[in-house]
Amino acid sequence: MRLVLLGPPGAGKGTQAQWLKERYGIPHLSTGDMLREAVAAGTEIGLKAKAVMERGELVSDEIMIGVIRDRLGRPDCAKGFVLDGFPRTVAQAEALEALLAERGEKLDAVIEFRVDAEALVARIAGRFACARCGAGYHERFKRPKVDGVCDQCGGTEFVRRADDNEEAVRRRLRAYVEQTAPLASFYRARGVLRTVDGMASIPEVTAAIARLLDGAGS
Ligand code: ADP
Ligand code: AMP
Repeated sequence: MRLVLLGPPGAGKGTQAQWLKERYGIPHLSTGDMLREAVAAGTEIGLKAKAVMERGELVSDEIMIGVIRDRLGRPDCAKGFVLDGFPRTVAQAEALEALLAERGEKLDAVIEFRVDAEALVARIAGRFACARCGAGYHERFKRPKVDGVCDQCGGTEFVRRADDNEEAVRRRLRAYVEQTAPLASFYRARGVLRTVDGMASIPEVTAAIARLLDGAGS
């Protein structure tokens, strides 16, 4: 199953990707997570991306396409993947299409999350993650089952993202509208776009995705 999750920051892509990864046994490829790891490790890509990410702008297509080319070449992607945060520009979408075509593959579905702009601000403001395994939570909408303990790994330290502040969020939303939203028509034209109501609760969005993927892919 080869999937792309398309939606603005805070739409719920990472949350649903955690579930899709389990359901289909495919890797969750979050370019945001990959870049944050590169920043933490101080690699060349991390050094180039750090300030751009903090401002809430997009890292260059050249860097991102290279990152995805390397990652899709790894053996765990042979049976599929769920892409979260990539592609984010038409140039990235075209590069992904070419990379997959080289391997005789294509996307099974692009799932677009429709969400109101006001909801995104509240979602991002309440977002935090386990420092050990990265599992995502929300102060109101997805608390750990036991306060202060990660459901997935039992970790007790949590972190917030450096770019989840008001100014960077505003820039990230603008970047989405200007550079990423046009991908909906790009994928509609290819007949793979599916839309879900991202304003519904987390389990309702999961159920909607399960329904639309029933019978799709391998
Ligand atoms: P994205 O990966 O699209 O940036 P996340 O999956 O990190 O978004 O979700 C942003 C925040 O909103 C997280 O704290 C998450 O727990 C919460 N969230 C995700 N989906 C929903 C939903 N359907 N309703 C309410 N909160 C949600
Ligand atoms: P995310 O975790 O998806 O919200 O991404 C966090 C930040 O990483 C973004 O605001 C961008 O600066 C950068 N980023 C992640 N994926 C991409 C991409 N495909 N293209 C350009 N920049 C990206």
